[in-house]
Amino acid sequence: MNILHKRFADTLEGLHAAGTYKRLRTIAAPMAATTRVDGVDEILVFCSNNYLGLANHPKVLEAAEAGLRRYGAGTASVRFICGTFECHVALEEKVADFLGAPAALSFTSCWNANEGLLPVLVEDGDAIVSDANNHASIIDAGRLAAQATRKVFAHQDMAALEQALVAVAESELKIVISDGVFSMEGDVAQLSELSSLCQRHGAILVVDDSHGTGVLGAHGRGSAEHCGLPIGAQGVDIVTSTFGKALGGGNGGFVAGPVELIDMLVQRSRPHLFSNALAPPLACAAHEAICILEQEPERVARLHANVHTMRKGLREIGYDVVDSPTGIIPIMIGDTAEAIRLSDRLLDMGIFVVGFGFPVVPEGAARLRVQMSSEHSAAQIERTLDAFQTLHGR
Ligand SMILES: *Cc1c(COP(=O)(O)O)cnc(C)c1O
Repeated sequence: MNILHKRFADTLEGLHAAGTYKRLRTIAAPMAATTRVDGVDEILVFCSNNYLGLANHPKVLEAAEAGLRRYGAGTASVRFICGTFECHVALEEKVADFLGAPAALSFTSCWNANEGLLPVLVEDGDAIVSDANNHASIIDAGRLAAQATRKVFAHQDMAALEQALVAVAESELKIVISDGVFSMEGDVAQLSELSSLCQRHGAILVVDDSHGTGVLGAHGRGSAEHCGLPIGAQGVDIVTSTFGKALGGGNGGFVAGPVELIDMLVQRSRPHLFSNALAPPLACAAHEAICILEQEPERVARLHANVHTMRKGLREIGYDVVDSPTGIIPIMIGDTAEAIRLSDRLLDMGIFVVGFGFPVVPEGAARLRVQMSSEHSAAQIERTLDAFQTLHGR
């Protein structure tokens, strides 16, 4: 314990000295366009994944409450013993139907879904080819699939991807895996190109669409809809995503894809076999969130309009903001301590935007990450742009 104590103390002291120590802000009200942060009311939230404002939607809350009363707090079991409830089956059918996928399987998070998926997909000598900026859960899932050869290609570099695919040409099975929307850059994966390359090289395309589901495409079906691709042949073969972002902001994730894949995951996926199923109230909440999204596609349209307004406004102030339809708008700062300082100043102005630095992004690439919701009003966006104007003129 003394060794640990000394190591941790040294590291923590270093973080404090560098100004890169993370402080946890405490929220005392539901997540919405405004909330109560560190005891202050009416803070404008521009850093949550509550893209469609469903985290505190009355119908989502009702569904969770009804689920709690009907099925209890939890399953007290993994799925294959006695943890498969009606609400899991209903949710999985809903997800498949919503995405136009053959079948789906829920997990307790998308992190879990990725870790449950990759080790089941590959055997000895197979290959996993992964974008350099893929989410940490994909990187860790790849490590768990240690029987495969792993290759990383430069972010969104299709020539590098092709090189990697040529390098693993001998592998019987090749998996290409990418975020649908990259969580730190807010760019959309070039799915048409990825899909063509996969078809040319006989590879399977897996897309983690956690920041794309509910956000991209006219119906919010995600990056595949945005890119005009089906889920299935000649498109994206397998999708993973989360219920913890646009689809209600609770917990849970899923894998959607071929029926035999889902069947195999039930047989072999380790989080599925050895860890409790998604809690029924959360399954019911996610189900209702998808129903609302299907009934109210105007939420997606509002989100797209807000994204456009914010990106345009930031550009007019002088920030280097690229055009992208996603709800993630990074503002590059460089130095981690400076990014944290700027986010503290924004919070003083009543705007909750978080600074990201190492190790979440590479050293020297710290940034503020603005995230949009369909529920931000024009006045709230204006206030935030005013705050950024103040920062810019600092
Ligand atoms: C947020 C995110 C996850 C994690 O989702 P959870 O359901 O919270 O585990 C996984 N992958 C990507 C790409 C994400 O952005």
